[in-house]
Amino acid sequence: MIKFGPSGSPEDFLQDPAYNGTVDMPRYVKARGLDCFEYSFGKGVRISEATASAIGAAFAALDVEISVHAPYFINFANPDRAKIENSFGYITASLDALRTFGGKRCVFHPGSPLKRDRADAVADMQRNVAELAELLHRNGYDDLRVCPETMGKLNQLGTVEEIADLCRIDPIFTPCVDFGHVNARGLGCLKTVDDFKRVVDAFGCVLDWDRVKNMHVHFSKIQYTEMGEKCHLTFDDEVYGPEFAPLAEVLVEYKMTPYIVSESAGTQGRDAAIMRDIYREALAKA
Ligand SMILES: [Zn+2]
Repeated sequence: MIKFGPSGSPEDFLQDPAYNGTVDMPRYVKARGLDCFEYSFGKGVRISEATASAIGAAFAALDVEISVHAPYFINFANPDRAKIENSFGYITASLDALRTFGGKRCVFHPGSPLKRDRADAVADMQRNVAELAELLHRNGYDDLRVCPETMGKLNQLGTVEEIADLCRIDPIFTPCVDFGHVNARGLGCLKTVDDFKRVVDAFGCVLDWDRVKNMHVHFSKIQYTEMGEKCHLTFDDEVYGPEFAPLAEVLVEYKMTPYIVSESAGTQGRDAAIMRDIYREALAKA
């Protein structure tokens, strides 16, 4: 089943006295007719076992899916070996919390070349991510989906092709396609149904269909400059895009069942529901 939901705490969740923290998030998700939620460990994996268990129980009770976002400071292209070991640790800590939450998916940003040659950085990232896969298998994380994300700034690693290549390394990797990032990096390249098809097809021609069909999706409108991503917007934006409707057509035509996570700036709950409605309309027309 396709799933829609917010990333992080939307403004209307924070402002409503009926909700007090993440244990109440499944109620918020259900009240809006949504299905999933993404918990961010962007600034580090700092959560007690007791809190994580309470969150897991709350999500299980209402049958709401939870995914996690690993820390932003992961960089698998760092030439410093100690930093790579730290990055391994950030992933396994995120996966341990994910397991306690009862979730299945962990998103991560693969890294940046820093001041190095991009080809060298990509080669190092490939080698380190292959080592990560081995480490994950050795330590029994095979049942989880680890999702490298397409990135929005030109100076970050994570083009569509780079993420497809990372996923080819091992079946434990499922792509996280952030269409807002792809559009920002391509300076507004996603407009038509065919534009979105080309992105999905780039994964479809190198990965098994299960991982493409069930990909993880981040979707928001994002402002960009010639350097790529500048900041996340809401669905009220009419300048930068991308629009969700053409992607909805592709999801219906390809019979895809991804998790679609809204990363709008403050309106994640509302915008996830807008995407769900657009998707249902596309489904009804097909
Ligand atoms: Zn991300």
